Amino acid sequence: MISNSNIIEKAKELGLEKIAFLHTTELTNDFKVIISASLSYNYNWNNESESAFGYIARYTTANFYKLLRIKLKALGDFIYQQTEMTMKKNELYHISINSNLNDKQIALQSGLGNILNNSLISVNHKGCKFVLGNLLINEDVDMCDSVIHQVNECGSCHLCIDSCPTGALKENRLFDKSICLQHLSSQIGDEFDSKLDYIIPHWNERFFGCTRCVDVCPLNNKNQQIECIAHELPGYIGTVFTADDCLKTIKKGEFKKKFTGNQLGANWIPEVALIRNYILMNFKNNKSICMEMYNSIDKSDLDTAEKKYLKKIILLLKNYDDISIK
Ligand code: SF4
Ligand code: SF4
Repeated sequence: MISNSNIIEKAKELGLEKIAFLHTTELTNDFKVIISASLSYNYNWNNESESAFGYIARYTTANFYKLLRIKLKALGDFIYQQTEMTMKKNELYHISINSNLNDKQIALQSGLGNILNNSLISVNHKGCKFVLGNLLINEDVDMCDSVIHQVNECGSCHLCIDSCPTGALKENRLFDKSICLQHLSSQIGDEFDSKLDYIIPHWNERFFGCTRCVDVCPLNNKNQQIECIAHELPGYIGTVFTADDCLKTIKKGEFKKKFTGNQLGANWIPEVALIRNYILMNFKNNKSICMEMYNSIDKSDLDTAEKKYLKKIILLLKNYDDISIK
């Protein structure tokens, strides 16, 4: 049995904001304890205005999840050294980030943080500029099972609900994901197209995502900014995306290549969603780019369905403004 205080100490040393332990066999039969972990992305350079041309939501300006994975691996290795090392490392621990486990639920159950009105978790009473992940370990941890009391950190504050551009956040912590700009940024097809009435008035010149309900939260003030050289972080892509002219002519794989190592380059975000977002970000003030892209779609090497989708989007946009397409 390992002492939790050693693990907590090591987690701090690694730069994790907080970890919390959950004894469970409900969520996984293979591991005895889940360590819920949080990592801040409140970097001094990570504060671009949401109205900036090509804005990229700050939780994804670098691959903070990869950074969390690196730190959890170091924590897993540390725990391994505390054991008798009779099992293999991959039998002792497993890292789960953005997988089938419900990170928020585990964070709540373990006491990592409290749920806020913007549906995110406040860690250490420092607001919600954190990414979450889990380290599952197959070893008992020596700790007092304390009762977790959820605290209403929001009190009478309403700022995030009032500032959500699409009205996705509602009273009583209800959240309509289907009209959240953050969610919609990576969706394609009807899920996106049918929400254009919500999207168009608020998209402005953003490229990906929305963090307004995070940015307005006064609890973040307690989360000290981290100083670092941005380019040294894994998957750093900058705070704005300003594609070169070559992207006016669409080439398969070209957009993904720009985001290698970042979540935006991952398979679960369709490339066509990124191209569509690029069209949208230029739609209001740079219509010639939209027209050029429209005209180059047929000549591109995209799949037929992708071509059809992009042409459909540009034609739908025409209903919202006077893009002249020949
Ligand atoms: S991310 Fe943006 S659109 Fe989504 S709930 Fe927050 S403020 Fe609203
Ligand atoms: S902005 Fe106010 S209501 Fe929203 S999460 Fe932060 S403290 Fe809670």
